[in-house]
Amino acid sequence: MGYKDYPGNEELKKLFKKLISNGVLPQSLILQGGKFSFKEKTGFEIAKALHCEKGDGDSCGECKQCRLMSGLKTEDEGEIKPSHPDFLYIEPEKDIIKIDTVRNIMEFIISRPMISKRKVVLIKDIDKMNTQAFNAFLKILEEPYSYVYYILTTERLNLLADTIRSRCQVFHLKNVNKKIIYEFYNNIPEKNIDYALVIGVSPEDVSEDEVEVYGNLKAVLSELLDSGSTRYLIKLKEAYDSIEKNRKKEFLKILIGLLKKYFMNIIYNPDEKQEEISIIRDKIFKIEEIEQDIFKNMNIDIIFTVLISDIIL
Ligand SMILES: [Zn+2]
Repeated sequence: MGYKDYPGNEELKKLFKKLISNGVLPQSLILQGGKFSFKEKTGFEIAKALHCEKGDGDSCGECKQCRLMSGLKTEDEGEIKPSHPDFLYIEPEKDIIKIDTVRNIMEFIISRPMISKRKVVLIKDIDKMNTQAFNAFLKILEEPYSYVYYILTTERLNLLADTIRSRCQVFHLKNVNKKIIYEFYNNIPEKNIDYALVIGVSPEDVSEDEVEVYGNLKAVLSELLDSGSTRYLIKLKEAYDSIEKNRKKEFLKILIGLLKKYFMNIIYNPDEKQEEISIIRDKIFKIEEIEQDIFKNMNIDIIFTVLISDIIL
């Protein structure tokens, strides 16, 4: 149980342990890190440690608090849903965090903790709050309750308003080396881990269905990018069309993850020419712009077409 449940960022984990056991953890903190930095997992472990009765800065896994925090895996989603009354976990719905969700936070914090000494709010991808939600949340941060802790995660700090950033202490988590991840999850197939790496989820939560879509897409895309043959372009289009409507967004995220990975590999190739690298760099910037369009809920079909015309062709 605790920080040793997952690999990487050992120094930072030690620091959190110390800050919590000494009672000096900042009440509002931002965990910034890449897709495989385990930032949400770290946030969750901090929340557990804040509640744990042992109070040594890590969770013991045995006390009542820890047991309530250890959560249940729901059958359909495979997500962790802790049933601790003093813990609130927020994640974007359809890639947005709206004002209603912030109202839930207000309701949650207004009463004192029920069974713990503290209340903890963990918000995944704080940068996905829309303006209205952001402003409301800012007010919450401006008038903190002594018993509430906020743990916010984000991949991109530059998407956050300074007003939020300046009220939180920021901690940077490093991405964990792939080899270490393979070794750590040695009971999980590598293809599932690869998929998790691209999408930024925990390897334990990956379904076979998703891995299959990913595998097919990866094969078609690498043929397409290496050969430039329109035959594979048609295959890619077919793959996109065959996906159910409500899963197209997920498909695009996978496609974007794969494209980024492909172009990054070119940049890191020491034999690559300088001119070529600057073209690729532009493509990566463009991909990141398109990625933002997904978060802004732009039309998925249009995004797919732009990806094909501006990036792949
Ligand atoms: Zn405990």
